[in-house]
Amino acid sequence: MCKVIAIANQKGGVAKTTTAMNLGIGLANKGNKVLLIDNDPQGSLSICMGYKDPDSLELTIVDVIEKIVNEEDIPEGFAIMHHSENVDLLPSNIGLSAAEVSLVNVMSRELVLRDYVEQIKDQYSYIIIDCMPSLGVMTVNALACADTCLIPCAAAFLPVKGLQALLKTIYTVKRRLNSKLEIEGILLTMVDKRTNYAKEIIAEVNEVYGKSLRVLPTEIPLSIRASETSAMSKSIYEYDPKGKVASAYSELTDFVADNS
Ligand code: ADP
Ligand code: MG
Repeated sequence: MCKVIAIANQKGGVAKTTTAMNLGIGLANKGNKVLLIDNDPQGSLSICMGYKDPDSLELTIVDVIEKIVNEEDIPEGFAIMHHSENVDLLPSNIGLSAAEVSLVNVMSRELVLRDYVEQIKDQYSYIIIDCMPSLGVMTVNALACADTCLIPCAAAFLPVKGLQALLKTIYTVKRRLNSKLEIEGILLTMVDKRTNYAKEIIAEVNEVYGKSLRVLPTEIPLSIRASETSAMSKSIYEYDPKGKVASAYSELTDFVADNS
């Protein structure tokens, strides 16, 4: 069985990409076959995984979308790259912006990614989709094929405010397109426990959402080492294995694996 997890929040800079990479590699370290899908035209996940110039990649998610739309066969391993920490990556680049716009004229445009995922999911235990910071068609595509949605949320005032719109989108997708979709939980990220402010935000998130949704027991601490990892083409487990962010992501990995 394969579990598909969409990592979504229309706010940028809340650690979606960092979470996708470190959760994916964490699950691979536990012996799982994992595919990471970069579903953001900024290609941040592709960059973090070592493809520093994603716009020069020959094959990306854009080519997969094109094949699905044209109802062409997708050869095995098409457009998939391999990372040294034992995960596969379907990269993305700026072309995804145009591809997303062109889907407007396509029938069942919300289900293109599902078509692809259905074709490859028996090869993986986990597929993790790193969404772009919007609630547009490609994010809806990710939600339409996911088993769960993990919502990273920076422990700061504005990112917390944006959750309502995201939850509304998730519930609409669940009603209309994907009845199996569940919320994995809200993951508080960039938590600076030294400040009262962070504590207030965490208390507020628990108060507002804690009854209807799961606020995950693991919090990802704010750390310079974590922010440096993005440029290193490696996970936090390799870059700073003894640090608090590595142990938090490893705890998150255990939680997600136990919840599968
Ligand atoms: P998103 O995908 O939501 O836009 P990113 O994962 O790209 O967010 O993270 C945004 C920025 O914050 C990046 O520069 C990243 O390196 C940094 N970052 C991520 N996690 C942490 C953390 N725990 N502590 C400090 N900085 C972090
Ligand atoms: Mg990102």
